[in-house]
Amino acid sequence: MKYITKYKSPNYNLRNNSKIQLIIIHYTALKDTLDAISYLCNKEKKVSSHYLISQNGTIYNLVKDKFRAWHAGQAFWQEIIDINSVSIGIELDYNPRGKNNKFSLKMIYSLKKLIFKLQKNYKINKNNVLAHSDIAPFRKKDPGKHFPWQSLSSSRLVMSFKKLKKNEVKIMEKWFNNNNLISKKQKIILALSLIGYDTREVHKNVKLYNKLIRAYKIRYLNREDITNSKSIYNTLIKHLFNFLLTKN
Ligand SMILES: [Zn+2]
Repeated sequence: MKYITKYKSPNYNLRNNSKIQLIIIHYTALKDTLDAISYLCNKEKKVSSHYLISQNGTIYNLVKDKFRAWHAGQAFWQEIIDINSVSIGIELDYNPRGKNNKFSLKMIYSLKKLIFKLQKNYKINKNNVLAHSDIAPFRKKDPGKHFPWQSLSSSRLVMSFKKLKKNEVKIMEKWFNNNNLISKKQKIILALSLIGYDTREVHKNVKLYNKLIRAYKIRYLNREDITNSKSIYNTLIKHLFNFLLTKN
């Protein structure tokens, strides 16, 4: 796999022996690749990512994997708050309001090759390929609702959920009931928190709850299901069941 290593970002520090566990996908929301390079390599901006992928599929390696790039900001996943120390950040040259407002086939092809390689090198679980909006759902929307998660799951880079059998749904229901969870909302929050999401404040804050639900929906629900209130619960049950089976 070929990377362009000509551009280096000064915005990194040491991982302090933390193991790489997560891959975080972003979009730049900038004009083009050159604009993104100058932003991510500008000392004053204090941000960076390990990789940047252009619309034509060129992969730029801006920070070495062994270093801690600064891409996650305030974030949370599976009780971890220092996400930068345990992750690889990948920026895509994409701007929802720019000329680069498409995830080109070449870009996604390079992204898939890169994820495959990183998963192999660092033994990263399929459950741990995440959107910036997964780890910072109250602040961030990238890589956004048009990002082709389906294509990544067809290529077996992220988990695809097998449909549950009737008795498996019953097991999940029974388990929720044993935990004294009665309302759908309580069940949804518990499922999200077991999967890894930050649910610390959502019990008492409806605004944050809705933001978290939106982040989940744009990633996991298809368009026709987004307005159906039943489908998030059904998807989550399926997600949690598959997650518990494949967790390591
Ligand atoms: Zn981001």
